[in-house]
Amino acid sequence: MRLTRRGLAEALAAGGVLAAAGPGAWAASAGGQPAYGDFGLDLTAIDPSIAPGDDFYRYTNNGWLKQAAIPADAAAYSGVMRETTLSRTRDIMQGAGALGAANGRKIGDYYRAWTDGALLERRGLDPLKPELARVAGVNSASALARELALFSWGDLPNPNGASRPDAAPIAAGVGVDVKQPTRYVPTLSQGGLSLPDRDYYLVDAPANVKARDAFRAHIAKLFALAGFDDPQGRAARVYALEEKIAKGWWSREQSRQAEKRYNPYSRAQLATLAQGLDLDAYLGAAGIDGQVVYIVAQPSSIAASAGLARDVALADWRDYLAFRTLRNFAPCGPKAFREADFAFNGGVLQGTPKMPEAWKQAVVQTDRALGQAVGEIYLARWFPPASRAQVTEMTRNLKSAMGRRIQGNSWMTPPTKARALAKLANLRVEVGGQTPPRDYSKLEVKPGEAFENLLRAQAFTHQRVVGRLGRPVDRSEWSMNPQTINAQSNSTLVKVMFPAGFLQPPNFDPYADAAVNYGAIGRVIGHEISHQFDDQGSKYDETGALNDWWAPADLERFKAATAALAKQYDGYEPLPGLHINGRLTLGENIGDLAGLAISLDAYHASLGGKPPPVLAGLSGDQRFFLSFAQTHRSLQRENALRAQLISDPHSPNEWRAAEVRNMDAWYSEFAVKPGQKMYLAPDARVRVW
Ligand SMILES: [Zn+2]
Repeated sequence: MRLTRRGLAEALAAGGVLAAAGPGAWAASAGGQPAYGDFGLDLTAIDPSIAPGDDFYRYTNNGWLKQAAIPADAAAYSGVMRETTLSRTRDIMQGAGALGAANGRKIGDYYRAWTDGALLERRGLDPLKPELARVAGVNSASALARELALFSWGDLPNPNGASRPDAAPIAAGVGVDVKQPTRYVPTLSQGGLSLPDRDYYLVDAPANVKARDAFRAHIAKLFALAGFDDPQGRAARVYALEEKIAKGWWSREQSRQAEKRYNPYSRAQLATLAQGLDLDAYLGAAGIDGQVVYIVAQPSSIAASAGLARDVALADWRDYLAFRTLRNFAPCGPKAFREADFAFNGGVLQGTPKMPEAWKQAVVQTDRALGQAVGEIYLARWFPPASRAQVTEMTRNLKSAMGRRIQGNSWMTPPTKARALAKLANLRVEVGGQTPPRDYSKLEVKPGEAFENLLRAQAFTHQRVVGRLGRPVDRSEWSMNPQTINAQSNSTLVKVMFPAGFLQPPNFDPYADAAVNYGAIGRVIGHEISHQFDDQGSKYDETGALNDWWAPADLERFKAATAALAKQYDGYEPLPGLHINGRLTLGENIGDLAGLAISLDAYHASLGGKPPPVLAGLSGDQRFFLSFAQTHRSLQRENALRAQLISDPHSPNEWRAAEVRNMDAWYSEFAVKPGQKMYLAPDARVRVW
């Protein structure tokens, strides 16, 4: 990229961002130098005292691991990328009002309302009162049903995380019909828990018991701050109700199974399933009444929560709804609320010692409400056309490499192969952000009204999602923002997405050696493409329909290979007594393994028959694997790691990097021998694609 003078001046003016960001920032790369070292690898991190075959992750990263530290206001740390992006995004938000862009004023007002501590203090509980009054007035089954429907939208989707929040015990939504991916259907799924997973309520591990106690204290604290009487009694009742909801929940592992989640119900059948819930009131308030079919993700869980709507006293439900209102308000309430919110959600659940400064919270919240509008500016400022072109070319090479893997596959019969290739041909690859970006013209934002703006943004999301009903499916939609540091695969839309925020060093460096970029962003592109063919993604056909397109014998062989990978990951124990869940993480682990394999293929193909250069004594394949392991380096607090192991389909980074054990090339490149800790005999290495 050619960095403009204006861009450089802005970067410098952003309060030492360049220094904070280190050489990873675009500006520092403007001269054509990679962010790290001579060709994009951090060679200073390599620890020659560790044998690669014993611990490849520490061999590659030890120099970095020994000096890196998690910032006090974060739960994890993997380098400067997150801080760099936060600063860039803050600068956009602070200056947006002056840009004259369509959404500039909204962005600026939304952001500033969250940072004005004096104003939040002065307004006190006033913005909260109408909301609390509404839930305090719930005195009938129909009023309760209406509130439960509205709370489905009582949280904004997090562009950095899963696509839907779990805001209500019965969460209404509208999504693509996975059996007929040309239409939208209303959906009902389980939700309504405050702790990260049902296991926290139901499994009596000491860490879970501690989290429960802290959670009860947190509920009481919010009630006390809002001036409720008997905060302890209310906390006990809210907790008891959440525990009942948790008992009905499906495990994450069950919920991952795409075909088990697809349960069509007519309106009449739904009434039979959800006995105890005033369904007319619920569907009406959710904006999804009068539909022919409803897709229920976890029928027994929905039935259980509907039963609770009838069996649990309305007074307890009022406390539950009041708590969820307080929880929604706390991050933008007076200081005591903000501190309580952080102490539990950041401190207890993640183990983070220090509350982030207000501007960071404001950036995250504005991203959730108006992120794609912010992203338009981010793209123009930080994602040059040359980078887009370079990444797009890599995606083409990765797609071709996947095609060759499918074609050369020895266990798949020709008819299944033809379907797999058709699916690959139909796969869309999108780089940068959603085009065109989301239309925010109907979202009203007022200066100084942090909580009201949040409620309006939640209502706007509700309208936007419900507005899909009856329309053709929009394949261009993204749930991530351009500035999001993540990448995604969507099986029903048959596409993979790479936001600009992810495409920065060390993930992607336009000046790095090809082997380094293929080991980093290449394997991520491969990972996302492979999701279309992982244990769940492979259940969707070339149109995005959940449809069994596999010959039975092929499917058996595929399942056997993936079962071996699940077993391999079940064997890892990141915390004493807490293993990786091989089934929960299977899709991600398949993505990692296949992504690594096809990216190495694509790297080789990109050389066009020429031998790769040897750099600093390292072969091309060595640089590829080192780069792969370096992009996984990270530190994480124990509580955050625990939450991840229980609820997240991704294995922790160190164990994701251990996929190299399944790659023959890694053994020869690093002279890995039998007897070394990571060694696997050739027939014990898992090969999926
Ligand atoms: Zn993934």
